[in-house]
Amino acid sequence: MHDFHMHSTFSADCDAPMEKMADAAVRKGLTSICFTDHIDYDYPDPSIVFDVNLDEYAKAHKAVHDQFSGKLDIRKGIELGIQPHLVKPYNELTKEQNFDFIILSMHSTDGKDLHSGNLFKDCTLHEAYDKYYTELLDCVKQFEAFSILGHLDLVTRYKFEDGVHHFHDVIEEIFRTIIPRGQGIEINTSGYKYNMNRLLPSRDILELYKQMGGEIITVGSDAHRPERVGDRIDEAYDLLKDIGFNYVTTFKERKPEFHKL
Ligand SMILES: [Zn+2]
Ligand SMILES: [Zn+2]
Repeated sequence: MHDFHMHSTFSADCDAPMEKMADAAVRKGLTSICFTDHIDYDYPDPSIVFDVNLDEYAKAHKAVHDQFSGKLDIRKGIELGIQPHLVKPYNELTKEQNFDFIILSMHSTDGKDLHSGNLFKDCTLHEAYDKYYTELLDCVKQFEAFSILGHLDLVTRYKFEDGVHHFHDVIEEIFRTIIPRGQGIEINTSGYKYNMNRLLPSRDILELYKQMGGEIITVGSDAHRPERVGDRIDEAYDLLKDIGFNYVTTFKERKPEFHKL
C-alpha cells in the first residue's frame, strides 16, 4: 500500500520528524510514501506561516530516502495551498523544484481560511460552498503545475451539509478541465480524525470523476503524526474497487504509476 499524503516538521502545523513517519510506514507494511509538506503562501491567519525551506527539505528527504532504501520507497512531494493571486509564484516555484508529486489544495477561499470558520461568517452555507468550488475552478483553470487535487470537498469538513450534489455542475467543470491534462484527485482518509466518519471526497464525487473518464486516484492519510501513517488506506482501496476503479496511482518525477487494486 501507498500513502501519498503526509506531513513532517517541515510543515508549520506538524512536529513529527520524517524519520518517525517513515518508521511508522515500515511498521505498517507500506510499500511507498510521499511527504507532502505545506506551502501556503499568504495564508490568511498571520500567526501561521506555511512555507518550507526547500534546500533543507531536499537534504532531509535524501537522507531519509537513503536510510530506508530497500525497506520503503520515499518520494518528495509538496502540498500547495492555492489562492487565485498565487498562480504566478507557484508557477515559478514548481519550475525550479524537482518534486515527484504535487497536491493542489484549497485551504482558503475569498481570502479567508476554512480552518477558523471565517469563510462561513456573514454568508449562508450554500454561498460559502459556492464560493469555495467556484474559486477552486478558477484556480484550476489558471494553474496547471500539479498532479492531483487534494481533499476536494474539504469545505464539508468544517461545515457539513448533506447536499454536495448541488455543486456537481461546478465539480464537473473542474473534472472537464483536469481529466484531459492527466491530472487526478485523491482519497484523503483524514475525515475520520475530524469526526466526519467518511473519506474525502464523498463517494458521489468519486463516482462522478469515474463517469467522466478519470483514472488517476492517489490515496493519502494526511497524517501529521506517526500514529496516523497508513490510516484506512485499505478502506480507501476497497471503496475504489467497489466503485469500479482497477488501479490506484502513485507519482514519480511528476509521472503517474498505476498499481492494480
Ligand atoms: Zn490540506
Ligand atoms: Zn495535508
